[in-house]
Amino acid sequence: MSGKSNVVLIKDGKRLDGRKFDELRDIKMEVGVLPRAQGSSYLEWGKNKVMAGVYGPRKLHPMFLQNPTKALVRCVYNMAPFSVEDRKRPGPDRRSVEISKICSEALDSVVLSERFPNAVIDIFVEILQADAGTRCAGLTAASMALADAGIPMKDLIASCAAGKVEGEIVLDLMKEEDNYGECDLPIAIIPRKKEFALLQMDGKLSRQEYSKALNLAMDGCLKVYEIQKQTLIDSAKVEAN
Ligand code: ADP
Repeated sequence: MSGKSNVVLIKDGKRLDGRKFDELRDIKMEVGVLPRAQGSSYLEWGKNKVMAGVYGPRKLHPMFLQNPTKALVRCVYNMAPFSVEDRKRPGPDRRSVEISKICSEALDSVVLSERFPNAVIDIFVEILQADAGTRCAGLTAASMALADAGIPMKDLIASCAAGKVEGEIVLDLMKEEDNYGECDLPIAIIPRKKEFALLQMDGKLSRQEYSKALNLAMDGCLKVYEIQKQTLIDSAKVEAN
């Protein structure tokens, strides 16, 4: 989020990749892609490629971490070294620890964890290719993997970002917009309850811009939610046949 560049991000009312201001990148989803995981999903969101797998519920070790009233919902977000243009140093860093934490908290808000006392539900999010918006893509994929695993949930988590690029409020920033734009506002919602599960902001917005960006990001989440539901319905039909 530098807000400064020589790169022209908006030309003739269109963005670098030809999108309108309120347009999402193309999204493709699949579930049940990893036979050995309890549940899994694969998501392509623009140039982002994300895999999510669920392991559990199973007994939590070490035992002192166990909670007799609910399961621990634990998400690990990892970016592959080859996922970005310049090789990323393998292993956890401050950014991935932060994203793992916010994803764990967002997913914990929908999982009916009281049904699994002393247990852990592990969710692994692997970013195979990154082009901005990977926390939104990761969260979206993670909730699909949980649904695929048959873990009881209040609802899915649907996530999407909006932001400000060359003074315009736009939906779903891609890499160049994220790098050189003025603000990125990733959110995640529990669609049926219209509650927030995540709200972060990198950059600056006026009050009016903030509420415009928030509404736009919510609309984006609802579009993502429709694709999620359709993917799960389609996969259930395939299983039934
Ligand atoms: P998000 O992917 O959720 O938008 P950030 O705003 O932190 O998260 O990152 C934006 C983008 O910057 C990422 O999607 C990725 O393309 C790139 N990026 C992040 N971390 C690194 C890194 N360590 N090395 C190279 N590129 C990175």
